[in-house]
Amino acid sequence: MSPPIAVRDRTSMIIGGRAVPAASGAWLTTYDPSTGEPLAEAPRGGPADVDAAVASAHAAYRAPEWARLTPPDRGRALARLGALLLANQDELGTLETLDSGKPLSQGRRDVALAARYFEYYAGICDKIEGAHLPLDAEHLAITTKEPYGVVGVIVPWNAPLNQAARAAAPALAVGNAVVLKPAEETPLTAVRLGELALEAGLPPGVLNVVTGLGSEAGQALVEHPLVRRISFTGSVETGRLVAKTAADRIVPVGLELGGKSANVVFPDADLDAVAASVLRTMTHNAGQICSAATRLVVHADAVDDVLDRVSAALAGVTVGPGLTDPMLGPLISRAQLDRVLGYLDLGGREGATAVTGGGRYTGGDLARGYFVQPTVFAGVRPDMRIANEEIFGPVVCVLPFRTEDEAVEIANGTGYGLAAGVYTRDIGRALGMSRRLEAGQVFVNEYQAGGVETPFGGYKRSGWGREKGLAAIDHYSQLKTTVIRL
Ligand code: NAD
Repeated sequence: MSPPIAVRDRTSMIIGGRAVPAASGAWLTTYDPSTGEPLAEAPRGGPADVDAAVASAHAAYRAPEWARLTPPDRGRALARLGALLLANQDELGTLETLDSGKPLSQGRRDVALAARYFEYYAGICDKIEGAHLPLDAEHLAITTKEPYGVVGVIVPWNAPLNQAARAAAPALAVGNAVVLKPAEETPLTAVRLGELALEAGLPPGVLNVVTGLGSEAGQALVEHPLVRRISFTGSVETGRLVAKTAADRIVPVGLELGGKSANVVFPDADLDAVAASVLRTMTHNAGQICSAATRLVVHADAVDDVLDRVSAALAGVTVGPGLTDPMLGPLISRAQLDRVLGYLDLGGREGATAVTGGGRYTGGDLARGYFVQPTVFAGVRPDMRIANEEIFGPVVCVLPFRTEDEAVEIANGTGYGLAAGVYTRDIGRALGMSRRLEAGQVFVNEYQAGGVETPFGGYKRSGWGREKGLAAIDHYSQLKTTVIRL
């Protein structure tokens, strides 16, 4: 199947407003996860390229074209970028689908969400206010929110454009300049974001994109002395490394890391809504979502009913290459396929039962790509590894409970704390559970409700800080107190 848009064989990085290859001349290949075939090549940026990008961001941050832009004009530039993302939704959605494997409607939705970040933060530029602090008759004390300067943004492959926009839009709204490092698996839409930023009128150097490996370009970005703040989205292991490096330089880091989120289902819940939610957890980006509800903590009396409804819902799942817009696409890579299959094997060895799925799709063209069957494990105990470790695929573990206390203990029983869900018709119980669940966001009766406006981040090892909403503005600005003797 040929893509409906031209995928450039070789893409560039965007540094200082120019499309450039890596200084070393090296390239990285990106693959179509539906077939395993090479898709495009991106520059393998390294420390020299990061240095050039940070230098250009640093210069652009201080240049009058950005530093003296009025807040409304900064907002207009961001709004134009949001509009350009929407105007190019077909192209960008297709690129995202080809690069990441996600179904086309999900790729297109990610573009719309990315546009929303720029729209939302465009409107905030002229509302980033400080305060007047009452002291005494002889003094005036005020606070102002100021940009850091150069912000380094490192994102993973599961929602590349969306996560880039989530960090870049608030960082730019405050007046910072950004160097973005997309994942090596999915550089294509990030580069287009850099191009569209220029088209929208952002001055050259304000939004740079360096493609390359994490251990090369990513690490160089975190180590660069002119990078004053870091936004990292990815795994706990890499987040820990990034935080250690940043700690050496005393540079603040936002960490958006993994999860093993629990969805707690009480017997009075709308079980069809629960089944629909499980279906979405498995099919949305093939389960490769940090906040996916991968543990279904169900009252023991409702387990059989829930399993029947989930199995029935999964029977209708369509599978195929992202461009055919199925419900379920492939995983991102061979490495991720091996990881998920390893956990499917482990689940069996730990004594859990796969009531649906349990392996990869091996028939016809699907055998060429990285397709895994939606797998529901029953008979899972909280101490099993499959109930504690992030699998990052279409896999859900069902854990039964008898009492509310037991449900809370199971739900809070992993090292993660990104999101949680509660399904019940009892509002008092829902609110009580929300208080007791250790998670950055709790969804009641609709998992993953909310949007750009709702702050997002993790408790425990799921991360530090909050992206999205007004909370992100505090993150990308530093507070200055000025006290004047009158
Ligand atoms: P990863 O940590 O391997 O890579 C993420 C990014 O970090 C990539 O751009 C990579 O190139 C870069 N990187 C790798 N090594 C680096 C280093 N030494 N220094 C600097 N950068 C480096 O993560 P992944 O496997 O690509 O992504 C999946 C993980 O991301 C999952 O754990 C998922 O839960 C998490 N995630 C979290 C959120 C969130 O908002 N909390 C969102 C999406 C994904």
